[in-house]
Amino acid sequence: MATVLRSLQDRLADPSIPWKTVLLASIGAKEVFEAYIGSRQRPYLSPILHPTLPSALKPYLTASDAHDTYRKSQAYARHKLDYDSVLTIVDLCETIVFLSAVAAPVWTALGLPGGQGPHWTLLRGFWDLAGQLPFAGGGHSEIRQSSALVVLLTVIGTVMSIPKEYYRNFVLEEKHGFNKMTRGLLVSLALEVPLIAGLIKIIHWAGQDAILRMVAWLIAFIFCIQIAMIFVYPYVIMPLFNKFTPLPTDSPVYPRVKDLAEKLSFPLGKVWVIDGSIRSSHSNAFFFGLPGLQKHIVLYDTLLEKSKPEEVEAILAHELGHWKGMHVVYLLAVALTQVAVSFATYALFLENGSLLSAFGFPPTPSHPVHFTKEKLGRAHASTGPTIVALLLAMMLFSPLSSFLQFMTNSITRHLEYDADAFATKLGPSYATNLKTALVTIHEKNLAVYGVDHVYSAYNHNHPTLVERLEALDAQLELDRKKET
Ligand SMILES: [Zn+2]
Repeated sequence: MATVLRSLQDRLADPSIPWKTVLLASIGAKEVFEAYIGSRQRPYLSPILHPTLPSALKPYLTASDAHDTYRKSQAYARHKLDYDSVLTIVDLCETIVFLSAVAAPVWTALGLPGGQGPHWTLLRGFWDLAGQLPFAGGGHSEIRQSSALVVLLTVIGTVMSIPKEYYRNFVLEEKHGFNKMTRGLLVSLALEVPLIAGLIKIIHWAGQDAILRMVAWLIAFIFCIQIAMIFVYPYVIMPLFNKFTPLPTDSPVYPRVKDLAEKLSFPLGKVWVIDGSIRSSHSNAFFFGLPGLQKHIVLYDTLLEKSKPEEVEAILAHELGHWKGMHVVYLLAVALTQVAVSFATYALFLENGSLLSAFGFPPTPSHPVHFTKEKLGRAHASTGPTIVALLLAMMLFSPLSSFLQFMTNSITRHLEYDADAFATKLGPSYATNLKTALVTIHEKNLAVYGVDHVYSAYNHNHPTLVERLEALDAQLELDRKKET
């Protein structure tokens, strides 16, 4: 296996491969494919092609204004789809500028370092600029310069996203404000920088030519981070963005939560309510807590406002289905598999001088030299900054990440159906209440419209309303047949 990987690695370093063209073609192919998937959804949002409610929704949306809500939902979804298409084009242009010399005259005019050379790219410019940042170690430490590059790219990315987010948040979705965005930037920097530094350290230490060993260590590293996040996310990060208040014990929902937890032997700790500032049709309730200890239930205030107590209970039954089925373990396994496949692929390119040269990083003696591989019997000079090789490999394999995303979506969707099936098994009233609760939430969010199954499977990690209703009905039918 290792020899096969090594020979593949060498073959890919062939200087005659036109990497710039290959990379742009790869990104372009992914965009074309996604545009095709998006085009499959469009007819469902057209009031001419789909003038009436999908049949799965008809029994639930019977009010006189139901048709109006349907029309508004279609228009809203169409608006979002159009906006996403515009963003895709903008992002594609940004990528082209980032990976080419288009910006060179501006760069030079601003008096920034570099800006010349036959293969200069903006990426190269940012790398050189990162080396001059005060905390970059004067370009003598690859890890510090890489961390500086991550900071630089994240800050630039956030600034560039302000107009896009502004439109999405205030025109399209009335979401959260900019103070949360700043906090979001700081949190992502606090997480990203140590993550990237750790990754590079491991890659240098484990040896880029020993791909399997390197991937094994990377998986171990990511696994530790994921376990740490189980502690950090609900206790540290979420409270930065949402306000937690205890559910009043005299709320009509409280005894239902307690009884359901007791019935299922769920180790109930506290019950919290959080402000549901983010408009989302599927984050309505969740639980958190460490394995073997008490677990806490969190309900969104929007769920409590919109739903009857018995409907909240049905939604909670779905959440506890995730707990009973130990879905967290599956999700962890899926995430690690994704990391393993991605890094095993990226690792093939980490020392690819031909790829690096095509984007302005020709091999020079000025690159920090790693002697860490002496233990393997040979000293080895790095071909270029690992972070840049990683970044290019990631872009080169963006179709791979789309495919992996499709695979993980199909697993998370399966877990959702599984949790719904769990709720229906608690009794027919749970199924009915779950269905009405789902319809009410989606109706309020203007998300009642039909969906193309391929589009949904590719884009959504949760099944859409129509898909869930259809699956719930099928499940009920199956249970009924079993009984008779
Ligand atoms: Zn769920």
